Amino acid sequence: MYNVKVLPFSPIRENTYVLYNALKEAIIIDPGCYGREEEEELRQFIENEGLIPKLLLNTHCHLDHVFGMKFVAGNWNLIPHIHRLEKAVLDYAPVAGLMWNLPFDLYTGELNYLEDGDITGLETDPLNVFFTPGHSPGSISFYDPSGGFLVSGDVLFRGSVGRTDLPGGNLQTLSKSIVEKIYTLPEETIVYSGHGEPTTVGRERTTNPYVKG
Ligand SMILES: [Zn+2]
Ligand SMILES: [Zn+2]
Repeated sequence: MYNVKVLPFSPIRENTYVLYNALKEAIIIDPGCYGREEEEELRQFIENEGLIPKLLLNTHCHLDHVFGMKFVAGNWNLIPHIHRLEKAVLDYAPVAGLMWNLPFDLYTGELNYLEDGDITGLETDPLNVFFTPGHSPGSISFYDPSGGFLVSGDVLFRGSVGRTDLPGGNLQTLSKSIVEKIYTLPEETIVYSGHGEPTTVGRERTTNPYVKG
């Protein structure tokens, strides 16, 4: 069973998630801490809880989700796990950072690749990897069937969906991902999004104005 901690970071207010089990082993998802102060905030949380970060996962590699990738990978000696189609998105992130006036140091080390159907997560609590493109070409979501939650990145939000006007985005693809991969989950499944408050599969399937179930 995971405890789920959300830390909204950067001016973009991206949700960085820390999932941790009873053994205090932790997964960091979408490290968006921007600058020293936010890096410290993440480090403090990990240390205060006595956590041991074991895994670094990314739903996708838009700039707001990778601001802290270099810090987290370096500080806890972790290799980021992304979908192969996000490599180009990651490489472009510093360019996007300049456009947004949010320059940052890109992580340039080794990467591990995940794809649809893979099992990741901690040994005690496996996570299913779903390929859910449309917001970004290599977006993936992480599903914990026993905990009953999904980390969706920017695919699905409470009352909204991810934008599809960025490079590699496509609304039809996004709708298909949501309808086939997310709306088919049990309705009480909690959805932890890349921005904003959590929601549930049931709530979005019946009330989401952008993608109908
Ligand atoms: Zn995004
Ligand atoms: Zn985002």
